[in-house]
Amino acid sequence: MNDQTVFLDLKPVPYLLGQGALAQSKRYFSSYAKIFMLVDENSLQHCLPVFKKNLPDIPIHGLVTIESGEINKNIDTTGSIWARLTAMHADRDALLINLGGGVITDMGGFAAATYKRGIDFINIPTTLLGQVDAAIGGKTGIDFQEYKNQVGLFTDPKLVVIDPVFLNTLEDIHWKSGFSEVIKYALIMDVDLWKIIDQRHYHHLKNDWNTIITKAARDKIAIVKNDRNENGIRKILNFGHTVGHALETFFLKTDHPITHGEAVAAGMICETWLSSQIPELNCQNSQVIYDEIDRNFHRLFFQPDDFDEIMQLMKQDKKARKGLLKFSLLRRLGKAIHDIQVSDDLVLQSLEFYLNTKHT
Ligand code: NAD
Repeated sequence: MNDQTVFLDLKPVPYLLGQGALAQSKRYFSSYAKIFMLVDENSLQHCLPVFKKNLPDIPIHGLVTIESGEINKNIDTTGSIWARLTAMHADRDALLINLGGGVITDMGGFAAATYKRGIDFINIPTTLLGQVDAAIGGKTGIDFQEYKNQVGLFTDPKLVVIDPVFLNTLEDIHWKSGFSEVIKYALIMDVDLWKIIDQRHYHHLKNDWNTIITKAARDKIAIVKNDRNENGIRKILNFGHTVGHALETFFLKTDHPITHGEAVAAGMICETWLSSQIPELNCQNSQVIYDEIDRNFHRLFFQPDDFDEIMQLMKQDKKARKGLLKFSLLRRLGKAIHDIQVSDDLVLQSLEFYLNTKHT
């Protein structure tokens, strides 16, 4: 193991993390007679060659290629994955490697867990968001009707390999999307990570990505290890997401949809402000947090007239109970707590704060 690679031999999921992780993963594939791989056109073009270069001896019996994008994370595409596996005679001893972003690991995990009542799968995430978030924690699934992640199950991969080697070809918009989750880990639990990213733009973190990704992924692993089914501590990962999800859905209906990362960045500004207003929390570091988010993300444009609709969307969120909004908020920079009930009025004020404190 080189000194850039971290091996976490956790049960039920082992993790190989950091530069060189891919090349170190060879032994996990040797027990499978037939190995299949799920890719989209981008991971086929950019990531499969990297996989083959690092693991030249791993035989891939069949490729399942799907079209990229959230719009294809659905039951029709899942059906096409099952059909391809059937046509290629994948039996119950087969392995499916999910090589791609969060769409591939979410849907590939779901397809594998349901094909012939479940075959093994290994996640090799190739986007920043996939590496620090989506491929970790056992949530798999697809969108159904207009609802995101409506159908799915908790199920664990046999291994997760997180190697930044894949990220050289990632488009800027996807770096940015993943970076908001990195900021989130720093704020909710990792002051050392904050020290690396604070006062910096993500374009200028070139030499630090290996450390950043390894730390952020380890943060998520530490949380889900103790609460896979999100009964308690895992809820802190929702910081920024209550307002964020509502904004994401709101903008989906407009002519200028935004990325998940942009929505979460805006949500983190509102929810940091909420944290500063609640006396029991009294989070003191809010200005440096706003500054770091504003350095990396433009403020979104919406109007006070939109508040009603945004509030309604928040109340449909899985975190709302009987119309009451519950948040994961910051006690201080680096420490979050979950299940904080907040009045509608204060949430509305947080949206006002967001609109009224535009930075350049
Ligand atoms: P994505 O999978 O759509 O990938 C983004 C784009 O990058 C795609 O076009 C993809 O083809 C391309 N791509 C992937 N790897 C590349 C590479 N190395 N070089 C060039 N292009 C590459 O999206 P995402 O942002 O990775 O993930 C979003 C998905 O993850 C959503 O469906 C979301 O619901 C899910 N998610 C799941 C969890 C979870 O806990 N299961 C957590 C967060 C997000």
